Amino acid sequence: MSDQQGITVPKGKDFSEWYNEVTLKAGLADFSSVKGFMFIKPYGYGIWELIQAALDSLLKAQGHQNAYSPALIPERFLQREQEHVEGFSPELFVVTQAGTQPLEERLILRPTSETVVYDAYAKWIRSWRDLPLLYNYWNSVFRAEIKMTKLFLRTCEFLWQEGHTVHATEGEADREVRSILESYRTLMEDYLAIPVLTGRKSDKEKFAGAVYTTTLEALMPDGKALQMGTSHQLGQNFAKAFGITFLDQAQKRQHAWQTSWGVSTRTIGAVIMVHGDDRGLVLPPRIAPIQVVVVPIFQDASKDSVLKEAKHLQGKLEKLGIRVQLDDREGYSPGWKFNEWELKGVPVRLEIGPKDLEQQQAILVRRDSMQKQPVKWDALGTVVPALLEDIQAALFRKATSFLEANTRPAATLKELGRLAEKEKGFILAGWCGNKACEEQVKDQTGTDIRVIPFQPPAGACVVCGNSGQQACFARAY
Ligand SMILES: [Zn+2]
Repeated sequence: MSDQQGITVPKGKDFSEWYNEVTLKAGLADFSSVKGFMFIKPYGYGIWELIQAALDSLLKAQGHQNAYSPALIPERFLQREQEHVEGFSPELFVVTQAGTQPLEERLILRPTSETVVYDAYAKWIRSWRDLPLLYNYWNSVFRAEIKMTKLFLRTCEFLWQEGHTVHATEGEADREVRSILESYRTLMEDYLAIPVLTGRKSDKEKFAGAVYTTTLEALMPDGKALQMGTSHQLGQNFAKAFGITFLDQAQKRQHAWQTSWGVSTRTIGAVIMVHGDDRGLVLPPRIAPIQVVVVPIFQDASKDSVLKEAKHLQGKLEKLGIRVQLDDREGYSPGWKFNEWELKGVPVRLEIGPKDLEQQQAILVRRDSMQKQPVKWDALGTVVPALLEDIQAALFRKATSFLEANTRPAATLKELGRLAEKEKGFILAGWCGNKACEEQVKDQTGTDIRVIPFQPPAGACVVCGNSGQQACFARAY
């Protein structure tokens, strides 16, 4: 394989450069001429469409409906909720002119849509009959002040969904927060094949304006954590700031309870990092735009008969609902095609040549382990779906073993610091709940509290020694 075509940097040697090469060469995304912004190319967008479809059906099954909100927000809206504006003001794109005229009021390109959406909700919600209101918005958001662009992981604009729900009671909003977190876990573990730790954020790390934030955290191969999604209990903070009230069944006016939650295209970055190898991308079958690539191998004399059977097998697999591509391109050798589809992480390759015609078989090669097996045509309809399921499960098992092997306890701040420096990964350590102790850990070890388990075991604080609970620390993206 020529250096031009394949991945030139081993994953274990320069992880960051490997990531860039895989993302670009697999045709997932590209940099834009506008600094900090990215193109998502069809193959990358195909992955996003499958992630969207999976999550969309999980959300709709719980009664959520999709809607769309405008991209521009009056600046004064952001200022209504004090914590919210403080959390977001350093990273805003501001629109000051419309056509040739300066705007009377500055507009913000949404960094997230709470404020503009809740201004509308104040008009739409009148009575307890209007609740719960369960809307979800697929859109993109904008965050300025990106220092180093990293495709899918750090860009000024990214795609996501943001859910914004309104409830009559605190308990109902709490249940919504947790049920969304569980849907997100299903998406990450069952579709992306990435295990996650779930729990709460500390007050320091919570969403600006939330009462509390729940999170899903995954571990990347370089030992750094990646936040895969968050689900926030907003309490009545925004309802009070935006006047979202309803008449309850006793005809009494109440402030509503709210939640918001989101998952973004950065999950694609996680898929690249967690599953990829030195040949390139390795895609979990459930989110692979192409699940099986059929590569016919022939010379002039055998071309017609091999192609005919290749098309026949393609059709047979497609009838089972499998996403199949036949690579019958001229002018590329089979070896070149193998490398290309390995680079693109297609889960299964099906090879068929003249000798296979005689045997009425095809050769199946799985991308994760590169194992080969001949399979009779008659058996393909049962073997291929089972193989795809097996690859999906094997990827999740492998990622789970990595997560478990790289989650370590630390009894003292010194040990936490040593683990953060040498071993990396998730570090479980006691914390008293004090922000000053949390900040001292950050200063001395470079780690944040990524997540506090929902039912944390007790543990003495590694900074002050006071009694506390176990929290999970790590360096993070
Ligand atoms: Zn402490």
